[in-house]
Amino acid sequence: MSFKTLGLNNALLTAIAEQGYDTPSAIQREAIPTILKRQDVIAIAQTGTGKTAGFVLPVLQLITEKTTKKNVQALIITPTRELAAQVATSVSNYSAHLNVSSLAVFGGVRIEPQIAALEQGVDVLIATPGRLRDLHQQNAVCFDQLHTLVLDEADRMLDLGFIDDIKKISELLPNKRQTLMFSATFTDQIKTLANTMLHEPQLIEV
Ligand code: AMP
Repeated sequence: MSFKTLGLNNALLTAIAEQGYDTPSAIQREAIPTILKRQDVIAIAQTGTGKTAGFVLPVLQLITEKTTKKNVQALIITPTRELAAQVATSVSNYSAHLNVSSLAVFGGVRIEPQIAALEQGVDVLIATPGRLRDLHQQNAVCFDQLHTLVLDEADRMLDLGFIDDIKKISELLPNKRQTLMFSATFTDQIKTLANTMLHEPQLIEV
């Protein structure tokens, strides 16, 4: 099994080769083709399984290159700043040969530079919940072009008390979208969240 057989394009295959990966991991083998079909996914996978590339690669392939002002097409929500920064590095590495712009926004740093960066146009936004709501309240982010939402480490998001933020953010997004939820555990709370946020999701467990 190779990355090519999963349906990824040449720009992404080049970036993958540059990362030194030659074989997709179990989560990648299942998640990538499913996400490329624009299906909703709930994936139960731990850190270290290659889950980040499992959603970042297909999400990047589904970004439409635009020449006019770029509004956010894919939003990746993470529970912590550290994870947001880590995911942003992956997005940046995997999009090395694509004309896709990405930005990470999180709390604990000044909001003004983030507002200025969003103003330049961002295709893929990686955000923690609180700062994302602040940015939205300041009209710094527009979701009218959004087609993909990723909730990374959803169980940690619930543990950290972000459930209301997540629900409020999801109300701001277009209903017609693809939603991908990644979680290390599959608790009743996660199932309930999946039921409210996902549409006929494919369950992937590795
Ligand atoms: P993650 O589970 O997303 O935190 O990824 C764990 C680590 O595995 C990261 O350092 C990735 O760079 C690396 N990785 C992801 N996919 C592959 C792959 N197919 N082959 C080798 N390493 C990988």
